[in-house]
Amino acid sequence: MTPLDAKIRERIKTVGPLAVSDFMEIALGDPDHGYYRTRDPLGATGDFVTSPEISQVFGEIIGLWCAVAWQNIGSPKKINLVELGPGRGTLMADILRTVRNVMPSFADAIEVHMVETGAVLREQQQKTLNDYNVSWHDRFEMTPAGPLLIIANEFFDALPIDQYIKTDKGWQERRVTMDRDQDKLMFGEGGPSPAKDVYVPDDLKPSPVSSVFERSIVGEQIVGDIAKRIATGGGAALIIDYGHVRHGVGDTLQAIKSHKYHDPLTDIGEADLTTHVDFAALAKAAEAEGTLIHGPIFQGEFLTALGIEQRTAALTAKALPDQAKGIISGSRRLIASDDMGTLFKVMALMSGSDTVPAGFEAFGAESAS
Ligand code: SAH
Repeated sequence: MTPLDAKIRERIKTVGPLAVSDFMEIALGDPDHGYYRTRDPLGATGDFVTSPEISQVFGEIIGLWCAVAWQNIGSPKKINLVELGPGRGTLMADILRTVRNVMPSFADAIEVHMVETGAVLREQQQKTLNDYNVSWHDRFEMTPAGPLLIIANEFFDALPIDQYIKTDKGWQERRVTMDRDQDKLMFGEGGPSPAKDVYVPDDLKPSPVSSVFERSIVGEQIVGDIAKRIATGGGAALIIDYGHVRHGVGDTLQAIKSHKYHDPLTDIGEADLTTHVDFAALAKAAEAEGTLIHGPIFQGEFLTALGIEQRTAALTAKALPDQAKGIISGSRRLIASDDMGTLFKVMALMSGSDTVPAGFEAFGAESAS
């Protein structure tokens, strides 16, 4: 039993079944033993890989996107470049290297701010970005005011969600509880004192019994804060994640350990927990604060529109044959429709202007549906 297994059982014994969001908050964010607080989970020897770890081309293209976004908002002399959940710092390093090469005036305007709660990952980011002046923050609200560009790759899928389940008595909150003998954690319905309103959109209320609806209140709050800052101070945000374009039902909570699916209720704090991002809910929260939304579009469409094929060809032309193979297969993974190309979506938030952000020109709203 892990320390968090014990902590969760203790909590259930004293306060009753836990909301899924409270369970996730402990599993991922517990200050002493939480999954993201205690380790670097990325890479072949870790639990999962992400786009920037697959290919440098990913960060190079996002660097170009940032350069165009900076021009679109009038090339301010100083701009905060904020990354949420920056992993090993690889994406930021690729962005900064690219903008230094293609647009030095933008590189000079940038102040880098990382939002990261994990001590081990912060240390790794410090190493990766040793040559740059970078500030770290625990939460987005702590980043300084002023025009800003925000990047979030695989950040929102790591935030706690609540789950609601349709039962024959109607919709109820799904909770983490224990079996009668108190030796096994399991999912259950309802609880002695419902802590939260059961929230399900009207169009999904008639779903069949056993349907699950998920909502990330924290995710909506963060995107609302981002949108408020963009609407008032100017700027743009790029959110990249796997998820769905429209509201829907489905239990997407999954645990991953050593690149394999795992039971979310075992090895708590030692396996990653993620859920599919509800882009429609994020878009609604951002629109309510007065920003314009572009997309979501498929990651494959976004990277292709911004020249991933040309960049891959340019890199392979200079590479040794073995390296060239790796570069080509990396790019393919990022854009292929049977791989990350359609599973991952890209959504941009812009301050009120008619300018369409780079990569989205050919697509109307909701083209990834
Ligand atoms: N963006 C990176 C890493 C994705 S993993 C990449 O693409 O490689 C998720 C990242 O979000 C990690 O850096 C993790 O520590 C961070 N994270 C998770 N929950 C967080 C929270 N509540 N606040 C800040 N960072 C968080």
